[in-house]
Amino acid sequence: MSECPHCGNELKYPEAAYRNADAYGGPVTVATGCCGKGIVLTRAGISIRPRYGPAGKDDWGDHMKASDRQEKSDPLFDQLLKDAKATVDGMTPEERQKMYEAQRQSWARGEMELGKSDKDRGYD
Ligand SMILES: [Zn+2]
Repeated sequence: MSECPHCGNELKYPEAAYRNADAYGGPVTVATGCCGKGIVLTRAGISIRPRYGPAGKDDWGDHMKASDRQEKSDPLFDQLLKDAKATVDGMTPEERQKMYEAQRQSWARGEMELGKSDKDRGYD
C-alpha cells in the first residue's frame, strides 16, 4: 500500500494507469481516487552495473569480452601514490619509523573517535 503524496491517505488510482506506466514506462498523469489531485507515474529506472567474468555470449548471443573486477584508475590518485612511494623511498630508516609511528597514533585516534557515542561527544 502506498501513501498519496498529496493527502497522505491510502493512494488510489485507476489500475489502467499502473498498467500503462508498467508497459510503456510513462510518465502517465492520472487523477487520484483519494483526493482527486494528479499524480505522475514513471516506471523505475533501469539499473546498470558492470558484469564481471570470462568472455562469453550475452543474452542475444553476441560476443562479450572478459572483464575482471578492478577499480578504474584515477590519474590524480596514481600520481599521489607515485609521489608517496618516492617520498618513502627517499626517507632514512629513522624517518620511516617516525612516520609509521605517527600513522599508528593517527589511526588509534580515529578508532577512539569511532567508538564514541554522540553522548560522549557532548551532543546528547
Ligand atoms: Zn490523495
